[in-house]
This record gives sequence, structure tokens and C-alpha cells, in this order.
Amino acid sequence: MNIHEYQAKEILKGFGVTIQEGIVVDSPEKALQAAKQLNKDTGTSWYVVKAQIHAGGRGKGTVKETGSHGVVLAKSQEDVVPTVKGIIGGTLVTHQTGEAGKKVNKVLIAQDVYYPGDSEPKEYYLSILLDRAKGCNVIMASTEGGMDIEEVAENSPEKIVKEWIDPAIGLQGFQARKVAFGLGLSGAAFKGMVKFIFSLYKAYEATDSSMFEINPVLKTSDDKILAVDAKVDLDENALFRHKDLAELRDLSEEDPLEVEAGQSDLNYVKLDGNVGCMVNGAGLAMATMDIIKLSGGEPANFLDVGGGANATTVEAGFRIILKDPNVKAILINIFGGIVRCDRVANGVVEAYKNIGDIKVPIIVRLQGTNAEEGAKIIEDSGLKVTSAIVLKDAAEKVKEVLA
Ligand code: GDP
Ligand code: MN
Repeated sequence: MNIHEYQAKEILKGFGVTIQEGIVVDSPEKALQAAKQLNKDTGTSWYVVKAQIHAGGRGKGTVKETGSHGVVLAKSQEDVVPTVKGIIGGTLVTHQTGEAGKKVNKVLIAQDVYYPGDSEPKEYYLSILLDRAKGCNVIMASTEGGMDIEEVAENSPEKIVKEWIDPAIGLQGFQARKVAFGLGLSGAAFKGMVKFIFSLYKAYEATDSSMFEINPVLKTSDDKILAVDAKVDLDENALFRHKDLAELRDLSEEDPLEVEAGQSDLNYVKLDGNVGCMVNGAGLAMATMDIIKLSGGEPANFLDVGGGANATTVEAGFRIILKDPNVKAILINIFGGIVRCDRVANGVVEAYKNIGDIKVPIIVRLQGTNAEEGAKIIEDSGLKVTSAIVLKDAAEKVKEVLA
């Protein structure tokens, strides 16, 4: 589960991670108040206005309606309100949002931390994530802060430092020092970075996160180390242990169909293709998506209705798939193991009748316990539903309806 930058920074601060301070607001009126408060708290007289959306690349992104960027420096309190007006309520398009962009409901008014001094401020990249192949967490760092790590990995992989953490003994002092050394730091900045890495790692473990990405981490001209940005991805499977973190969920940032599916306990991921599919079991769902591709279509979604598919789950699945305007055909692929095919067939027929007026062709492939009975129920229903028992047949039928 993703959360906003302002929420992430609040969490990090609670674990002693030094951050760029800020106050989140939902209107231009409150922005001036926030700027005054920040001035009092931090002494800053320059402010950074930052769009709060669940996507990166905001600094280079553009607000459709106003042409403003998503991260803008305001060099006085008077500048803050017009700057906020250029961002809040608008639609921010970044390389991560797609063309549709994302509505900005809140902005973070942050202290300017790039103040000039004897030396130039320097940006670094730092992340912690799970290395599934190695079965442990990895800390990644790079001197190329502010840039997409994918780009660095592609063009100059030697600039990425990695430290794998043994889960049994945790982060060791020499490892944090190795990372800070790898970033070319010395003196107070080196010490600051080691402390920063320790606090960050503590926060990562305590929140059951699956990813932290701090890009950039800033070394100020007076050698302070600060998190300027914070992307936090919480492991949804662990949220039951963190009721307070679960509350940070912002449904307006998520795909509405995925939210609806979640409410019906369906495992649904929206994709861009034209063939909707409803399957029981994640593995079979993956195989079904392959079959759709082989038959010349593109899967419109991943949908696992789980082991106990019944009329209610089938109907909920149907409704969600039908709301996707790209769907030109639906393939239902159910293996009757625990659930019997005749029950699923009845469920499909019942759901179809309840919804009524379904315009796209439906192919139902039932295999396993009572497959023949299931196929007969579909065929006798008089509905525009085609039945298949063999998967290859089902694929052929998808091909026919797409032709
Ligand atoms: P992102 O573009 O969504 O990754 O948003 P970031 O929070 O990383 O901010 C984008 C860029 O804004 C940073 O890389 C900085 O260059 C710039 N920025 C952020 N905070 C400040 C600040 O306090 N002062 C100045 N001058 N620039 C800042
Ligand atoms: Mn960033």
C-alpha cells in the first residue's frame, strides 16, 4: 500500500530520521498560515510547495490546467498562496501517472533546505527494499540523487552501492559505514548519513514495509543529512498489525475498480487489454491470461475469485469486469476442485440474469468435478454464453468473438 510523502515523512520522523519539515494543507487559504508556522519553527523564509499524489516525478511533472510544475519553490510568504493555487485542485501529469494524470487534493508546504552556503548542497539516492531472490532486505544507495534509479542502473550501474542485510542479525555498523563511504562522505556528513541509515532501517522494519525510497537524500551546505522526498510502500499483508498505518490509505489515489473488488474480497488487478477474465486460483489466472494472449487478445484484468466461487462472487466479478469500457469479451475459466462446476454454472446464469443486458460475448470454460453438468446448464440457459470444457477450445472461441 502506498502512502503520501507527507505521511511517510511523519512516520520517518517518529523513528528519528531527519526530514525536510513541512505542513500539509488542502486549501490556498491554509497555505499562508502553514508558511508562517514553518517560519516560526525552522526560520525558513523560502518554501517548497509539493503536490501530494501517489506518483513520483512531480518536480518535472506539469499541472494540466495551469502549466505549473508539481514541486515549486516560493521565495516569499506572498508567493506561497499563488503557487499553491497553481497546483491544488489541478491534474498533475508525470511520467508515472500516465496521460490522465492525478488530481491534487493536498499540497505539502515544506521548508527550503537547499540554502546556499560555503559548499553546494548535494543530492543522494537511498532505498531499502526486499530482495526476493536473496531472501533479505537490501540497502541501495547512489551519488546520483534526484535521478530515476532505473536510469542510473541502466547507464552507470557502478554508481549504485548495495548492502544486503542478514535478517537474523540485522543491519550492522560496518554496513551503514560502507554505504556512507560509498557515497564519498566524510566528517560530520559521514556520521550523519550512518545515523540516517540506521534510523531509516529501524523504521522500515518496524512498519513492515516492502519499500522505502528516499530520493533525494540531501546533504545541506552545513553537512546536515535530510530526507527531502519519501516514498513508502507498506506490506498490505502486515497491515493487520498496524491499524494506525492502515488508516493512512487514500482510496482516491487507487483504481476505483480495484477498490470495489477489494470490498468484495476479489483479487483484481486492472490491465489495459480487451478480454476480461474471471478465474479461480492465481496460477490458473496467470495461465488464462497467457491463453488470452495466444488467442490474439490482451487481458483486461487479472481476477482471482478464490476457491469458493459462488453466485455472489461471480456476480461481483462480472459487474467489475463489465465496468471496464475496453472489454470486448469475457472468458470465465473455473476449475471445479472444491467448488463443483454445476454450482458455478448456476452462479454464472443467475449473475447474468441479475445484471441483464450484457453486450459482450461470454465464454465459460468449466473443468473438473461435474464439468459436463455445468456445460449443460450453460447451454440450456438460452443466454448468449458459450461453453467450453477444454482450454484450447475456449481460446479458439475467444479468437472467434474477437475476429
Ligand atoms: P519528485 O519529483 O516527485 O521526486 O519530488 P521530490 O520531492 O524529489 O522533489 C523534486 C525536486 O525538487 C528535488 O529533486 C529537488 O531538486 C527539488 N526540491 C525539493 N525540495 C527543495 C527545496 O527545499 N529547495 C529547493 N530549491 N529545491 C527543492
Ligand atoms: Mn523524488
